[in-house]
Amino acid sequence: MPCNKIKPEWGAQRVKGLSISKTLIHAIRTLLKKEKSIEQKTIETSLIEQFLYPKYGPGQLWEEVASQVKARKGEIYLNSKVIGLIRDKLKITYVLVKDCETQEVRKIRSDFVFSTMPVKELILSMQPSVTNEIKEVAEGLMYRDFITVGILLKELKIKNETKIKTVNNIIPDNWIYIQERDVKLGRIQIFNNWSPYLVKDERNIWLGLEYFANEGDELWNKTDKELSQFATSELEQIGFIEQKDDVLDSVVIRTPKAYPAYFGSYDKFDIIKQFADQIENLFLIGRNGMHKYNNQDHSMLTAMEAVNNVINNKKTKENIWLVNAEQEYHETN
Ligand SMILES: Cc1cc2nc3c(=O)[nH]c(=O)nc-3n(C[C@H](O)[C@H](O)[C@H](O)COP(=O)(O)OP(=O)(O)OC[C@H]3O[C@@H](n4cnc5c(N)ncnc54)[C@H](O)[C@@H]3O)c2cc1C
Repeated sequence: MPCNKIKPEWGAQRVKGLSISKTLIHAIRTLLKKEKSIEQKTIETSLIEQFLYPKYGPGQLWEEVASQVKARKGEIYLNSKVIGLIRDKLKITYVLVKDCETQEVRKIRSDFVFSTMPVKELILSMQPSVTNEIKEVAEGLMYRDFITVGILLKELKIKNETKIKTVNNIIPDNWIYIQERDVKLGRIQIFNNWSPYLVKDERNIWLGLEYFANEGDELWNKTDKELSQFATSELEQIGFIEQKDDVLDSVVIRTPKAYPAYFGSYDKFDIIKQFADQIENLFLIGRNGMHKYNNQDHSMLTAMEAVNNVINNKKTKENIWLVNAEQEYHETN
């Protein structure tokens, strides 16, 4: 998608509150070494240089949540897919859940439904089905898909030329955006720098090579082996590795619908919103659940707002839509 066809709201969600002047002031302050005295809370998210990270990654947070849910007698069905929502007037009465291993379909009575599944699929799985007008908008919602190719390396060709100390003195970045036009690679993660505990043998380096794709396109349809070879050749091309022999292992993970897109039928999204909001016990939350470019904390906030609405018997859902809704993206002077 050419940049001039992408709506400014999408970019604004990404760099909200950030401006060229703020970036320059931040850079000067950093140079003057005043950075340490600056309160983290006053720095724009995009400019934050320090953060806390769970030892084994953010999944740990959800493992803890799951254990607390179970401790309170909640049940969690993994490897299961919601394939249908049965509605009766303004209520979802049952949810149809398919066990992906046994293919068995369970019909679960619902008091409340909080949905983070892609809203496109949610709307299209309603029984009885929605009106043609709503269906058309749902069918027209678009996404950007995503492939990570994990590459385990003996060593990196590029060396740490900064004064920042790292384990084994590898380059200090968490991720690097790749600007070269002649590679498809969009971004590289260096997992050792998120947490050294993510890498079994600390002498090695796990990189995550990120590709933005569309489900079913040429890149998406490559086999895992082809993708690993392709990613390795791109690493060589941009000078990250000396030779293919430095690659010890690889893994490919495809993430369909990684990014809800603000094109396609997005302009008519209000039609879906109005329909879903009037179903009393249905709450659209999260990123794909609301088709909104929410990050993890905004996604969690929408869930908290929704639960508060239930607890307080609040009928409107506007407060949930207002999370991360400030669309101001002003270049201040
Ligand atoms: C590459 C990438 C990097 C990111 N980096 C950051 C970051 O650094 N910081 C940050 O804050 N955010 C980041 N995000 C965004 C963050 O991942 C999302 O905002 C967050 O995960 C959204 O939470 P969610 O619960 O709405 O959806 P998800 O985390 O996507 O959870 C939805 C779940 O529903 C499941 N599901 C889908 N359909 C069905 C169905 N029919 N039945 C049952 N289950 C279903 C999915 O499998 C998934 O497990 C990143 C996202 C991507 C793609």
